[in-house]
Amino acid sequence: MSNTKVYSARSATSPLASTTIRRRDPTKQDIEMDILFCGICHSDLHTVRNEWSSVMSTVYPCTPGHEIVGRVTRVGSAVTKFKTGDLAAVGCMVDSDRTCPECKAGLEQFCPNIVLTYNSPDKHLGGVTYGGYSESIIVDQNFVLRVPANLDPAGAAPLLCAGITTYSPMRHWGVTGGQKVGVVGLGGLGHMAVKLAHALGAHVVVFTTSLNKKDDALRLGADEVVVSRNAAEMQKHAGSFHFILDAVSADHDINAYIQMLRRDGNITLVGAPPNPLAVSAFALILGRRSLSGSPIGGIAETQEMLDFCGSHNITADVEVIPIQKVNEAYERLLKSDVKYRFSIDMASLKSE
Ligand code: NAP
Ligand code: ZN
Repeated sequence: MSNTKVYSARSATSPLASTTIRRRDPTKQDIEMDILFCGICHSDLHTVRNEWSSVMSTVYPCTPGHEIVGRVTRVGSAVTKFKTGDLAAVGCMVDSDRTCPECKAGLEQFCPNIVLTYNSPDKHLGGVTYGGYSESIIVDQNFVLRVPANLDPAGAAPLLCAGITTYSPMRHWGVTGGQKVGVVGLGGLGHMAVKLAHALGAHVVVFTTSLNKKDDALRLGADEVVVSRNAAEMQKHAGSFHFILDAVSADHDINAYIQMLRRDGNITLVGAPPNPLAVSAFALILGRRSLSGSPIGGIAETQEMLDFCGSHNITADVEVIPIQKVNEAYERLLKSDVKYRFSIDMASLKSE
């Protein structure tokens, strides 16, 4: 076992601060990596502040972070997929039971015994797993991904959650060239959805509450941008979308977007606001529209997404910050003030 420097929160109301945790020694299937960059996902904030307590309570101390890119420093004797010095990545899962029908179908994200990268029971050391706001991490090789060499590591880190969470439902619902696709909320997930939907050939329309994101949305690959407070602009798109991805982190009126779908259109929630959303039955019934949700993606699909990003040169637009700015970054997330993902340069943790 070794001590590792991390940032963690002691309670739902404490700021993240420097401390140490214990990591296991690598088993024969494990990879140890030094973390280079870790993205900040809004899920980190929801978890640190225990905002999802009705579904999963946070165990403290909590070290979040599930958008991890690092350099392999040690491999177990049975590891075949990586060697020391390789660039490697870890997303939201570090294990699953591997025997259930979901795992057998390559859909580990639905495994009833999924082990999340943080705040999940840790079968090795007891307690809970600790995430990527950390110097290093040890993960089974089957849950470690390859990063295409042409991608900048700081911008590639957010692909491990924001990338796969938006890619997976678009593939599932068959987003393809010529379709009209809406993206609600231009944050970390939303901006990845724009880039990926554009690369899939869709006509992309962004719905934003932030007037100042209009030019960026177009630069990121949107064909049109609608400021959602403008009722006339909203009305123009009624009944016209094949697919809409809702990536909003807070309370909002989802019915306004359900009504934007054409017949048989689908709106998928990836945003996970803590409070239930009110859904109008009529908005769904008239038009046989569907509303669904989607969590991250399986390991094979995550690798497929990384390779897709490699071949299209897609990374997140990141603001690289030292770990010491993490609490400030959380406050900015709450103000929708991030362009468009914070990526923590983990070298900054060495000075703590
Ligand atoms: P983020 O960077 O903070 O982006 C959220 C965006 O939502 C904001 O930039 C803003 O976009 C919009 N927004 C915020 N408050 C709003 C409000 N009151 N009304 C309308 N729009 C609002 O967050 P993120 O990291 O992309 O995560 C988004 C959500 O997805 C979070 O709830 C997160 O937990 C969840 N998530 C889910 C999964 C999954 O597996 N399903 C994975 C990762 C994250 P505009 O400024 O453009 O309006
Ligand atoms: Zn995430």
